[in-house]
Amino acid sequence: MSRRDKNAMLDVDLDNVFSELEEEHAREREYVATLAPLIPSFVFVLVMADDTVFAPPGQEEKIPLPAADILEQARAGIALYDDVSGAAVIRADVVEGVVVCRPAAGGDALAAPLTLELLISCVERAGRELRFAEIRIENEQLSRQIGAMKAKHQELIAHNHRQYLLIQQKEKEYARTLEDKIAERTAELRKANRELQEASRLKSEFLANMSHELRTPMNAIIGFSDLLLDTDLDPEQKEFAITIKQSGDGLLTLINDILDFSKIEAGKLDIAHEPFGLRDIVKNVAAMFRKPAMDKNIDLRWEVEEAVPDRLMGDSSRIKQILVNLAGNAMKFTHDGEVAILVQSIGMEGDKAALRFLVSDTGIGIPAAQQNAIFEKFTQADGSITRKYGGTGLGLAITCQLVGLMGGHVFLASEEGKGSTFGFTLRFEVAAAATGAGGEENADREGSDNKEKKALRVLLVEDNAVNQRLASLMLKKEGCEVDVAGDGLKALEQLKQSAYDLILMDLQMPNMDGMEATRRIREIETGGDTAGYPGLAASPHPVPIVGLSAHARKEDADKAKAAGMDDFLTKPIVRPKLVALLRRMSA
Ligand code: ADP
Repeated sequence: MSRRDKNAMLDVDLDNVFSELEEEHAREREYVATLAPLIPSFVFVLVMADDTVFAPPGQEEKIPLPAADILEQARAGIALYDDVSGAAVIRADVVEGVVVCRPAAGGDALAAPLTLELLISCVERAGRELRFAEIRIENEQLSRQIGAMKAKHQELIAHNHRQYLLIQQKEKEYARTLEDKIAERTAELRKANRELQEASRLKSEFLANMSHELRTPMNAIIGFSDLLLDTDLDPEQKEFAITIKQSGDGLLTLINDILDFSKIEAGKLDIAHEPFGLRDIVKNVAAMFRKPAMDKNIDLRWEVEEAVPDRLMGDSSRIKQILVNLAGNAMKFTHDGEVAILVQSIGMEGDKAALRFLVSDTGIGIPAAQQNAIFEKFTQADGSITRKYGGTGLGLAITCQLVGLMGGHVFLASEEGKGSTFGFTLRFEVAAAATGAGGEENADREGSDNKEKKALRVLLVEDNAVNQRLASLMLKKEGCEVDVAGDGLKALEQLKQSAYDLILMDLQMPNMDGMEATRRIREIETGGDTAGYPGLAASPHPVPIVGLSAHARKEDADKAKAAGMDDFLTKPIVRPKLVALLRRMSA
């Protein structure tokens, strides 16, 4: 029960006591009023006392016996004072009141029993009045205390309320400040995010441009050294040309790696979901290392288990890139024994095939302490590796990221001096069986058939003089007849005069770029307005257009296709890819 409730109850109890006393008092007054006419000779005087009495001076000493008897019966102390005899009766120990009886002259104050009863009653009443007065005082004190407590209580409540309002106000202010702060912080974060996005966009753009700028001269270095190697060179010149070619290849790999890594870090590397033949990829990767393996006298083995489905959905070029990375490392760090590429079927889950890829070697192995670190970017097993084997330490980091993007993770088992096995598991959707030739399967296939080649008429649209010369030479070497146009507008002019089996179209050119030129050619073809363009009327309809760009991004290839191009080749032009393309065109 609260203090407040207790106080309330106390109030009610006291009120009850008082009203009862009041009632009794009233009854007695009535009683006395009834008796008063019967004993008119008495005058009552009530005096409050502790243990002193009010009596006429010098008359307190005698206690007559009959009076003592009466006193025994009385509950309160009585002092009787006989005005006539001067006798006074006092019980100091119990006295609470004194009644002074003033009988009429000559009368006996205690004679009538009624008078006696009246006396007793009066004494009792005096006692009660005394108690009543005391209680009233106590009550007043209590009331005052209660009042004070109530006031204190009210004050406390008011204080609490004030505190509550204050806290509430403070809370509101705090919430407002907090909201303001959150809004401010959100705005700052949004701004920072925008700036970050902008910085990331600029970085990607910069990388794309850099890659373009770097690939263009690489195109020339690799292409011309390739062509140079086809000419008559003395042994020393040949060695120089080979070194230039190998350095160019290495540099191009590095550029591609750095570009890939930036794209992965920026979350911009998309994984394609297209049908491909896994066996062709593994075969191509093995073919790439056949010559180096022979040179190092290493056995190169590859196997795709029979249970592995023929065609899958996924990103063939990224899978190839991973396998090339792993097989390249295996070749690099193996000096005798063998390198093996293995694809195993772990099982089918609905239309999904779970496959395990393993690339193992009998090379130098990797010390246990370094086996985690080598997956970090720019990290090699130890410093001597760079001196002895070269490399940047990016290959495995990219491999891991690519495998991760495809939903798997790379694992490694290796023993120093005995060899290493890198592996990963991926799940692929099984694709429908292939319907025709083309794409990755044929891209790198060096032809062995000696079928008579039809001389293709090719229009090369390219603004860069070095690239014009290089591509023309390559094409001519493959038996093509080549015309060159410096931009899109000149290409359209050229099409007014000659017909072509193939147009190789650079993307970035002044006056009219490759996309625009392609769209115009397609418009002319589909609008039937080929009259002014006998070249287009006579060429296979529609004329195959293959985009050519140093930009190796997927979105560029997609844009080129959207503009109406049939295929897309990245620069530097790799001869086997060009050959495969020409072969498809002349088929
Ligand atoms: P890079 O080969 O360009 O240095 P990687 O990321 O491909 O970069 O490899 C990192 C390091 O891992 C290598 O420098 C080498 O120390 C170690 N490594 C990778 N593959 C093998 C392997 N098959 N055998 C031995 N060491 C390897």
